[in-house]
Amino acid sequence: MINKIEHIGIAVKDIKTSNTLFEKLFGESHYKIENVESEGVKTSFFKVGNNKIELLEATDEDSPIAKFINKKGEGIHHIAFDVDDIHQEIKRLQNEGFVVINEKPKKGADNKLVVFLHPKSTNGVLIELCQERVNKE
Ligand code: ZN
Repeated sequence: MINKIEHIGIAVKDIKTSNTLFEKLFGESHYKIENVESEGVKTSFFKVGNNKIELLEATDEDSPIAKFINKKGEGIHHIAFDVDDIHQEIKRLQNEGFVVINEKPKKGADNKLVVFLHPKSTNGVLIELCQERVNKE
């Protein structure tokens, strides 16, 4: 089951500059910065009420974020939904005809297991499913 929007991811060129910008916008500082080396990305997170905003800066010129910015410029990159059972959701969505980019969930930022759905199967929107990591999975 998909529970709620967990966060919205925004691709930025320079996370320091954007942290300052979004701090002004929200009136609050980011609460964490995290490198996800496997994705070639540096992230920062802001809490906005019950929601979160994730800023993403490429740390590697071959990373998906670098490619995204080269193609489209800065902006909304993905919407992430919280799920209880990511494996069950992968199966359910594949049965519904969605294209899952990574069938095996991987470790994302903020202690999550994540998978992405290909935008070609979701009206051009990159969708992330994420599940809080509890054990050694
Ligand atoms: Zn995300």
